Amino acid sequence: MITIDVEDEKKEIIKRYRRLLRRAKPFLKDDDAKTIRIAFNTALEAHKDMRRRTGEPYIYHPLDVALIAIDEIGLGTTSIVAALLHDVVEDTDLEIEDVERDFGSKVARIIDGLTKISGVFDQGTSEQAENFRKMLLTLSDDVRVILIKLADRLHNMRTLASMPHNKQLKVASETIYIYAPLAHRLGLYAIKTELEDLCLKYTESEQYIEIAGKIIATKEARDRFVNKFIRPIKKELKEQGFDIEIKARTKSIYSIWNKMRKQNIPFEEVYDLFAVRIILNSEPENEKADCWKVYSIVTDFYQPNPDRLRDWISTPKGNGYESLHTTVMSSPGQWVEVQIRARRMDDIAEKGYAAHWKYKDNSGNGQSSGLEQWISRVREMLKQSNSSAIEFVDDFRSNLFHEEVFVFTPKGELKTLPHGATALDFAFEIHTEVGNKCLGAKVNQRLVPLNNVLKNGDQVEVLTSKKQKPNEDWLKFVITSKARSSIKDALKEERKAAAGEGKEIVRRKLRQMKLRLNNETVEQLRAYFDERTVLDFYYKVGKGVIDSTEIKQFKAARSIIPKDPKDRIEDAASFQKQLTKVREKQSDILLIGEDMDRVDYRISKCCNPIPGDDVFGFVTVNEGIKVHRTSCPNASKLLSNYGYRVVKAKWSSQMDNAFLTVLKIIGTDRVGLINDVTNIISGELKVNMRAMAIETDLGIFEGKITLYVQHTGHLEVMIRKLQKVNGVVKVTRIDTGK
Ligand code: MN
Repeated sequence: MITIDVEDEKKEIIKRYRRLLRRAKPFLKDDDAKTIRIAFNTALEAHKDMRRRTGEPYIYHPLDVALIAIDEIGLGTTSIVAALLHDVVEDTDLEIEDVERDFGSKVARIIDGLTKISGVFDQGTSEQAENFRKMLLTLSDDVRVILIKLADRLHNMRTLASMPHNKQLKVASETIYIYAPLAHRLGLYAIKTELEDLCLKYTESEQYIEIAGKIIATKEARDRFVNKFIRPIKKELKEQGFDIEIKARTKSIYSIWNKMRKQNIPFEEVYDLFAVRIILNSEPENEKADCWKVYSIVTDFYQPNPDRLRDWISTPKGNGYESLHTTVMSSPGQWVEVQIRARRMDDIAEKGYAAHWKYKDNSGNGQSSGLEQWISRVREMLKQSNSSAIEFVDDFRSNLFHEEVFVFTPKGELKTLPHGATALDFAFEIHTEVGNKCLGAKVNQRLVPLNNVLKNGDQVEVLTSKKQKPNEDWLKFVITSKARSSIKDALKEERKAAAGEGKEIVRRKLRQMKLRLNNETVEQLRAYFDERTVLDFYYKVGKGVIDSTEIKQFKAARSIIPKDPKDRIEDAASFQKQLTKVREKQSDILLIGEDMDRVDYRISKCCNPIPGDDVFGFVTVNEGIKVHRTSCPNASKLLSNYGYRVVKAKWSSQMDNAFLTVLKIIGTDRVGLINDVTNIISGELKVNMRAMAIETDLGIFEGKITLYVQHTGHLEVMIRKLQKVNGVVKVTRIDTGK
């Protein structure tokens, strides 16, 4: 039994609150401290009867989230207030109006955003996708919503141990699916790494423990190596008057695990287990030159790998990351990555977005950063996209992971695109209309096709033509979501226009044939041309893929349908009439297996029903009755839209007794043999095949076919017929027939 000392708890709560205030103190202005105190008291009161699963008072959670917002993301007063109150609207009696009245509209909007995205994210469902879209919409409103959400998620992940295992897995998979990539994209490197490691801890705990153990076990040897490696560099840097800090950073457990898995290597073979980071305290105006001076000193001692030089100082990454990376050969013959960066760059690299803003405010630097450009791109995407939520999330997520390439316009303007982007992506990046009219491009003065993949430093000039327009193929060679959604939009427009034209053509043709354009006729046309939807049919007519002579043939085919209108099955009622006629008694159930020669029916290919399945018959326009399973993917559409064409069906008692049997067929292989065999079984004899496995080796064909037969006489007929097939040498029944 746990006993709770209320007085001790109260003391602990106050202690934690004071710690928060101390951390916030350096940037508090005017009434900030008072506002934070009111927010704390409001949250404390609202959550007073609630406890976390750990048994601790609930208020610890908002206090910790606020602390993460300060210490690990670098957020200010508004965010601290919002973090303290982030769960009150969701979990307590307080309403958003109360928050707005007491803390103003800015805080209320953030809380509102946080409340809206509190739904669960089930991977791959449209509900999940919709939630994710909502979350991104808040990004276009106020980025702080997502930053606080990340702080909230980080704290929940840190305290995940107290949750039941199934909940742990669910929370962990959401985190790896959405939150870690988002943290990465927003430049919150430390948080991203911790989230990933925590996910691994709960999803692959054995491997997590093993890798963590090995990192600790190898630490001493690594430290020795690192010390030896940095000694000469450190000495030289000091002598030249640099104020530096050198750290050896071990790769995260998650990224080691990832590498082991992807390259299928053991821990011991992950060569870049750590990197050496040199951080300089340098004046902003000297940062770049100083980093290169340090580079020069490092490479005086160790030979660099020319292929591994990365200069993210001259051109920062899209998420704001700035650093100079080189990989050098150490004296025991091991490659070591060295990262060189100024203190400011290191802060941004670790804390991302908010830190970036802090420095920006101080420097008054007017240039918009990669991160802002990214956010404005997201905003634009959200504005223009009318794709489905799932499509949208797919497009968006693929954008989160891309590395970048840097290219130039003819006037020398720098454009950042995801790695793998093509000339066409570039055209859409310039402007949607430039993309839509893009004919090709000149890259470094040479003519290239639309699908040319751009490389760092390419200078790209887009060539356009008024006659050009987007086509389906274009989707195969663009990767930016902007290009994708623009092309999809254009195609949709074009499709609509073509379908409209098609509909007019159909209307004219039908009038000439003295037929009316109504749902029934259109549905018959769709089935006749075997199109998936009516719109597809109209579109093909509009594009001339289906021409008017073919539509005329439809009328001819339509008139072949039995002369005696009494016998024609076109709905359930006429089916019943005919069935009553052939059976000479009142009946409305199609008996599969018995009525074979009296009623025209087929087993549908979409769901392949077998005896025992629940089935129904569906009266088609040209193909008689088709038998579908009630669980067929098309069933709900057929049953709900065309109820008058649905007939009851069941397997005849003979079929109920049908038994599974396996036939072995041996023969000499030739083109079309399989087709001939299956035609006899399911076409001629209308027997249900359950499975078929065929092997061919050096011209010998050996097949095992599992099927339903009703009785041995039936089986003998089949074996005889199969033996007559050209190339078949032997047919035997191989099951024991228990
Ligand atoms: Mn929370």
